[in-house]
Amino acid sequence: MAESVLMDRFARKVDYLRLSVTDRCDFRCVYCMAEDMTFLPRQQILSLEELYQVAESFVALGTRKIRLTGGEPLVRSGIVGLCERIAALPGLRELCLTTNGSQLGKLAAPLYQAGVRRLNISLDSLDPQRFRELTRTGDLQQVIAGIDAAIAAGFTHTKLNCVVMQGRNDHEINDLVAFAAERQLDISFIEEMPLGAISEHSRKEAFFSSEAVRQRIAERYTLLPSTESTQGPSRYWRVAEAPAIRIGFISPHSHNFCATCNRVRLTVEGRLLLCLGNEHSADLKAVLRANPGQPQVLREAIVQAMQLKPWSHDFRLDDEVQVVRFMNMTGG
Ligand code: SAM
Ligand code: SF4
Repeated sequence: MAESVLMDRFARKVDYLRLSVTDRCDFRCVYCMAEDMTFLPRQQILSLEELYQVAESFVALGTRKIRLTGGEPLVRSGIVGLCERIAALPGLRELCLTTNGSQLGKLAAPLYQAGVRRLNISLDSLDPQRFRELTRTGDLQQVIAGIDAAIAAGFTHTKLNCVVMQGRNDHEINDLVAFAAERQLDISFIEEMPLGAISEHSRKEAFFSSEAVRQRIAERYTLLPSTESTQGPSRYWRVAEAPAIRIGFISPHSHNFCATCNRVRLTVEGRLLLCLGNEHSADLKAVLRANPGQPQVLREAIVQAMQLKPWSHDFRLDDEVQVVRFMNMTGG
């Protein structure tokens, strides 16, 4: 198997690609999107074939893990076929997908058959009304049915993602842990990041730190620090009362996880983003379209782009938008 050849200026090995397959979504989560969003016209986004070619080049360059995301990846038509092709790339160890769960009722089994092996599913509330308020359009029962369909389809190590907001869902933290424990799912609590200009709430006022989440959980559960790491931004804890599950904390504000960063992101416009919190990027769509049928040129552009990867992000805790991209454009 080829050794990874993707390395940045700081000798960090890059072997994880997050590939956004659409900017569209059936939800409008208040921390992710404005209520009124304009989405990209079709010509501007990568075709399924182009997405596949990018994945193929990254895997040829040593990428071992690909996560499909968006927007909501499961609203892109042809997604199951794309998964099947990417999962079959020799050298790829894991094809994962992050979803809001709304389409899993019908797609969990086909995705598993296509070779997707891990799912992250977003779940911010167990109260149907609050769930609707936070997602603006989502149906809680449909998402819970989706989570159960994923379990029934054979997915293991599924992780729930929950963005915690002060005064909105912070009082549900322990109920969400109980829900995860009941189904033996991991759960990560995320601090809201300043991506995209939103007006629905003040991010500063809604900030609820990972430390505060941990204290809240400690009121009901015995948390045991864990040394496990996935090289990613999550720091994990175990719970004595539910030993099968892990609790993760993604804390872009209170914990800088850049030193071990092994990932890059591709927007559905074909822009390779070298860092979640910075604008450094390379236009792979231009390379693809100017050099059809020449994977070598694309690979060279990817290798060159690694030189642009900055050392770190620096999110500040104020309401000024530091990065204009919305999370649905970034590929969370
Ligand atoms: N639609 C899918 C979903 O919701 O899981 C995948 C894309 S979504 C952008 C990926 C993750 O980013 C979700 O878990 C979501 O909660 C999180 N997210 C979106 N906007 C965020 C923000 N401003 N700060 C922190 N997390 C955010
Ligand atoms: Fe859609 Fe995911 Fe953004 Fe929510 S977080 S609006 S589900 S892309």
